[in-house]
Amino acid sequence: MHTTVGIVGGGPAGLLLARLLHLAGIDSVVLENRTRAYVEQRQRAGILEQTTVETLRAAGAGERMDREGLVHHGIDLRFDGRSHRIGFPELTGGRSVVLYAQTEVVKDLVALHLAEGGPLLFEAEAHAVDGADTDRPAVRYTHQGREQTLTCDYVVGCDGFHGVVRNAIPEHLRRTYERTYPYSWLGVLADAPPVHDELVYAHSGRGFALASMRSPVVSRCYLQVPDATHLDDWPDGRIWDELDARLAADGSRPLHRGPITARSVLPMRSHVTEPMHWGRVFLAGDAAHIVPPTGAKGLNLAVADVLVLARALTERYATGSAELLDAYSATCLKRVWRAEHFSWFMTTTLHSEVGQSPFDTRLQLSQLDRIATSPHAAAELAHNYVGLPVGLPGESPSR
Ligand SMILES: Cc1cc2nc3c(=O)[nH]c(=O)nc-3n(C[C@H](O)[C@H](O)[C@H](O)COP(=O)(O)OP(=O)(O)OC[C@H]3O[C@@H](n4cnc5c(N)ncnc54)[C@H](O)[C@@H]3O)c2cc1C
Repeated sequence: MHTTVGIVGGGPAGLLLARLLHLAGIDSVVLENRTRAYVEQRQRAGILEQTTVETLRAAGAGERMDREGLVHHGIDLRFDGRSHRIGFPELTGGRSVVLYAQTEVVKDLVALHLAEGGPLLFEAEAHAVDGADTDRPAVRYTHQGREQTLTCDYVVGCDGFHGVVRNAIPEHLRRTYERTYPYSWLGVLADAPPVHDELVYAHSGRGFALASMRSPVVSRCYLQVPDATHLDDWPDGRIWDELDARLAADGSRPLHRGPITARSVLPMRSHVTEPMHWGRVFLAGDAAHIVPPTGAKGLNLAVADVLVLARALTERYATGSAELLDAYSATCLKRVWRAEHFSWFMTTTLHSEVGQSPFDTRLQLSQLDRIATSPHAAAELAHNYVGLPVGLPGESPSR
C-alpha cells in the first residue's frame, strides 16, 4: 500500500493530523495497534486549551464539544488551609479552557475519519520505519496476522511514549532529556457530582490532590501516592477520606461520594526527544515529549505539534516549499520546553517529597502565596495554563 503521509498511532495526535490533512486534500493512512473500543475508552486528559478547542472546531470535530464541554474560567488553588481562585479571562485578555474528556475527543475524531477520511486501521501494529532518509520511507507493520509494508512520502510517529517511530532517528543524532518524579498519581473516576465547578489543586502536608470532573455528575480526582502503590491498599473509603483531608480549606465542603468506577496509578515523568524531525520522519505528541499531568499540557502539546505539521505539509504540497517542514522541530521544541517548564513548576510546587525539609515546604508555600496575591505571578500561571502561542507563521508571538 502507498500513501502520501503514513501516520503511526491513532491517539489524539494521529487522528487530528489525519483529519487536518484530509481537509487540505492530502492522503494519509493511520495505523493503530489497539482496538477502536480501547482507544475510545482510555481515560486521560480533560482540559483543552482555547487553541485546541478552536482547532477541533475548525476540523469539524467541535459540535459535541461545544454542546457537552464545560467552559472553565479559572482554577481554585488550596494551600495552608486557604482557598484562592485564579481567574483566567481577566489575566489573559479573555482566554479560558474547556473541560471535555480526551475519550470524547478521540470518539469524535474516529467517527469523522471513518465517515469521511482515508484508511484508519485498528489492530495494525507498526514495527519499524525503513529508509527514513530516502524519499520513499516505508513502515513495516502487522495487520490481520499478515506482515505488510506501507510506503509513503512522509512518516509521522504519533505513537506515544512507547512508540517505535522514534527509533528511525539514528541513535547518535537523538538526544533524550528526562526527569522522573519520586511519586505517582492515583486517579479515580466516580459517579458523583464534582465538589466545585472548577478544578481544585491542593497542596497539603499529606501530599497533593486534584479534584476535577468529566461532567456535572461524574468526578475525576487524583491523589499523590508513593511509586509502586497497590490499588488493593486503596479501598473507596480511604480514597474519599484522603481526598477530603487534602482538599480541606476554610469554608470548603466535603466531596460528594459515589461509586468509584475506574482507578489507576500513573507514574510522573518529564521527557523530551530531540530532534522531532529527521529525513522524511516526524514525531508529534507523546512520541516526542511527555509532561507530568499537573499542568494539563500533554494533549494540548500534541495538538499544537499537529497544527504546525499539518500547516507545513499543506505548504509543501501547495507550493513545493519544504521551509516550514525544515523548521518543524525547532518551532515545536520552543513551545515544548515552555510547557515542560510549566508542568515541572506546577508539579514541584504542589507535591511533597517523602522526607521533604521544612525549608522546601516554606519555599512552596511562599511561591503559592505569591501567585495568590500578585496579579503578575497569577498572570504568568494563567497564560501558561490557557496556552501559549503555537508558533504558526503570522501568529502573534507574545501572549
Ligand atoms: C491520567 C492522565 C491524565 C492526563 N491529563 C491531561 C490533561 O488534563 N491535559 C492534557 O493536555 N494532557 C493530559 N494527559 C496527557 C495526554 O493524555 C497525552 O499527552 C495524549 O494522549 C497524547 O496524545 P498522542 O496522540 O500523542 O499519544 P497517545 O494518546 O499515547 O496515542 C498514541 C497511540 O499510538 C498507538 N501506538 C503505540 N505504538 C504503536 C505501534 N507500534 N503501532 C501502531 N500504533 C501504536 C497507541 O495505541 C495510541 O493509540 C494526561 C495523561 C494521563 C495518562
